[in-house]
Amino acid sequence: MIGFDLAARDGHVADGPDFRMLIGGELVAGVGVVDVIDPADESIVAQCPIASEAQFDQAVAAAQAAFGEWRHVPPVERARMLRALGAAVAARGEELARLLTREQGKTLAQARDEVRFACAFVDYFADNTELPVEIRRDDDGQRIEIRRRPLGVIAAICPWNFPLLITLYKLAPAVAVGNTVIIKPAPTTPLTSLRIGEIARDVFPAGVVNIIADDNRLGPAITAHPGIAKLSFTGSTPTGKAIMASAAGTLKRLTLELGGNDAAIVLDDVDPAAIAEAIFGAAFVNSGQVCIALKRLYVHASIYDEMCDRIAALARAAVVGPGNAETSQFGPVQNRRQYDKVRGYIDDARRHGRIVAGGVLPEGPGFHVPLTVVRDIADGCAVVDEEPFGPVLPIISYTDLDDVVARANASPYGLGASVWSSDAARGAAVARRIESGTVWVNQHCAFGPDIPFPPAKESGLGVEWGRDGLLEYTAMQVININKS
Ligand code: NAD
Repeated sequence: MIGFDLAARDGHVADGPDFRMLIGGELVAGVGVVDVIDPADESIVAQCPIASEAQFDQAVAAAQAAFGEWRHVPPVERARMLRALGAAVAARGEELARLLTREQGKTLAQARDEVRFACAFVDYFADNTELPVEIRRDDDGQRIEIRRRPLGVIAAICPWNFPLLITLYKLAPAVAVGNTVIIKPAPTTPLTSLRIGEIARDVFPAGVVNIIADDNRLGPAITAHPGIAKLSFTGSTPTGKAIMASAAGTLKRLTLELGGNDAAIVLDDVDPAAIAEAIFGAAFVNSGQVCIALKRLYVHASIYDEMCDRIAALARAAVVGPGNAETSQFGPVQNRRQYDKVRGYIDDARRHGRIVAGGVLPEGPGFHVPLTVVRDIADGCAVVDEEPFGPVLPIISYTDLDDVVARANASPYGLGASVWSSDAARGAAVARRIESGTVWVNQHCAFGPDIPFPPAKESGLGVEWGRDGLLEYTAMQVININKS
């Protein structure tokens, strides 16, 4: 339920409960509240403040004011503060993991992993605050220096699948190189990001980090605001397109990490027993709500039956339940809208294929979806061609390698993909033919702070992570000196 007091939008600031936004170094209430729902049982976890456009303007003004000094803070000092942020997050790791489980649904073990990954990203960018000047030419006549400058105020708009990780892996590179930042989490998972605001308040000068929240209506004001230099967005492809259109008016820099429909191709030389668990893990991690989860599994006909049997057996044995129950291995789908969408994909799977695991949803409350595997299905139906973003895996048989490569590439998406072979060189040769930003060989979904993450096609624009991702938070400047 979204509770919003329109009268309050005109200026009255509602009493905030336990969660406040960080604007200009102050923890503040919003002009309304939204209930944050626990996907495990649909109870209310907490009420989250909603920022008005006027409060967003205040955040932009505070971030612009802070940028003037922050850009000149020595890199070593920015690194020190980022390390302090990482250490403070780690120190409150258990509390954050428990809150993450309640707002997002994932199991406590996965929530703890998310906290650890988030800290690793913060530490990586803390180690990379210095951007050395590159001397491209220096001779008797000319010296050419390639420098990097911060952009100004960055706005980061985040989704609900990894709220803590994504908040921190956008915040850290932005401020590492001298920008200031405003983070807006998704309305269904704002709580851990608001806690990061509390932590950041004690670490950074006022205005360097701002965290605001909304009820899904503030987006257009953010993406059109003339005070924002760059948008870093992770979310769906349709929203990415709307953001690009809205940002055109002020020609903002954009990094867009959007949807994916990652194909995996299992070659005929593979022993299904050796890879079944890795494939299963890559498909169902975070209950399939991962942009780079394995979403279409193409298996050579000679090993198709065995592969289907093994994946289905793993799925049937998996325990889906509340994330904070010790027995649960997979949590619920994050929100009602996504749950209804996933239900639609399961119906589609039933119409076009044979469901061999899961497929029957328990009575509520909660958005629990059993891990669902569908076989004897082909390209051309929604559950294969689109992105379910939930625990549903279609397994498709193929016989001809060229044909399956063409089918893997016949998607508007191009985020990740994988090729599985007992011969890594053969796998890599096939991998090079796939039109995706990342193609793994004999693994899927492997990522790290130092590995660039570039989307292809309608999966987005730009790069995140690694040095390439860091540079996207800067503008190149050429200093061209005539020495003659
Ligand atoms: P979404 O696009 O609906 O929302 C994402 C964020 O955008 C939210 O914070 C939302 O409030 C905001 N938003 C909504 N409308 C907006 C607008 N017009 N202008 C500006 N902001 C707006 O996506 P979602 O439902 O939160 O996430 C699911 C989708 O995100 C999936 O398709 C998934 O593949 C994709 N995703 C991609 C990655 C990646 O790295 N490529 C990671 C996670 C999720």
